[in-house]
Amino acid sequence: MSRPTLSLVLPIYNEEPVIPELERRLKEFLAEVGVSWEVVFVNDGSKDRSFEMLKAICEQEPRFKLVGFARNFGHQLAITAGVDYASGEAVVVMDADLQDPPEVVSDMLAKWRDGFDVVYAVRAKRLDEGIFKRVTAALFYRTLRALVGVDIPLDAGDFRLMSRKVVLALRALKETNRFVRGMVAWIGFKQTAVSYVRPGRFAGETHYPLRKMLKFAADGIISFSTVPLKVATWLGVFSGLMAVVVSGWSVYERLFDKTTAQGWTTIMIAVCMAASAQLLMTGILGEYVGRIYDEVKRRPLYLVADTVNATRDSDEP
Ligand code: UDP
Ligand code: MG
Repeated sequence: MSRPTLSLVLPIYNEEPVIPELERRLKEFLAEVGVSWEVVFVNDGSKDRSFEMLKAICEQEPRFKLVGFARNFGHQLAITAGVDYASGEAVVVMDADLQDPPEVVSDMLAKWRDGFDVVYAVRAKRLDEGIFKRVTAALFYRTLRALVGVDIPLDAGDFRLMSRKVVLALRALKETNRFVRGMVAWIGFKQTAVSYVRPGRFAGETHYPLRKMLKFAADGIISFSTVPLKVATWLGVFSGLMAVVVSGWSVYERLFDKTTAQGWTTIMIAVCMAASAQLLMTGILGEYVGRIYDEVKRRPLYLVADTVNATRDSDEP
């Protein structure tokens, strides 16, 4: 089987209003890209007509491929499936909402030809995204970087080119709670960046409400860092020191100052502080244990219900 040079992987969840423009922009770009190509759409259990629309596109052109999930498995797993089905020498993951403009892919290909294995796109500027999203995103990337031993690039999303070497390495990482951009950073090889101005969504609404953003942030931190677990040790040391001080003071009060019925306030504060520290740490432990539970079940990462033109790529050369 001959491989195309370029595979584009696009996760799709309820993108009906975007698809006609997406098709137009992709075709316009691919007509000029100058290398052999394929496009792998992954329909992540859309509830609107996205699947039917993509199917119609793929039926006209065999280089457009479609993988349809049995239900919504989430953005990170849709990317994972796309990478499993992509057979290109270079695989580019991009959002379907045209926030990742296809034209940037040309810059990525140029870097790949220069010998880089990973080319990630850094958002030099984000247009039309609210101040809240921008501030939380900036904070998140910086916290992650501080906690994690892996060099995760700041302000880069999942828009990136990966060489086949990196794709094969990524396929070998089977974890269930996936934070793909961190995993790619962990893989290593020669990595570089291109910068671009991130436009707003072409149409529709973001599929990352606060709840999903928090889960995503937690996956990022927990799958790459055990620092939160170590907070227990620090809290333990701190409360131990406090206990020594308070004990000394209580004994002093008892011996030299006979009005000891006081101290209720101190006890209440100490009890509340200890209890909240314990609950906090139990919660953090729970986050890890829950994820360990997910991992040991060893379920398949996603289930495919339908495909058009698409077959799973084998790891053979
Ligand atoms: N997406 C997905 N499954 C989901 C949520 C989102 O495949 O459960 C896709 C979505 O269709 C889009 C990409 O992931 O192509 C990024 O989503 P979105 O634009 O909503 O995120 P944002 O750009 O706001 O972070
Ligand atoms: Mg988007």
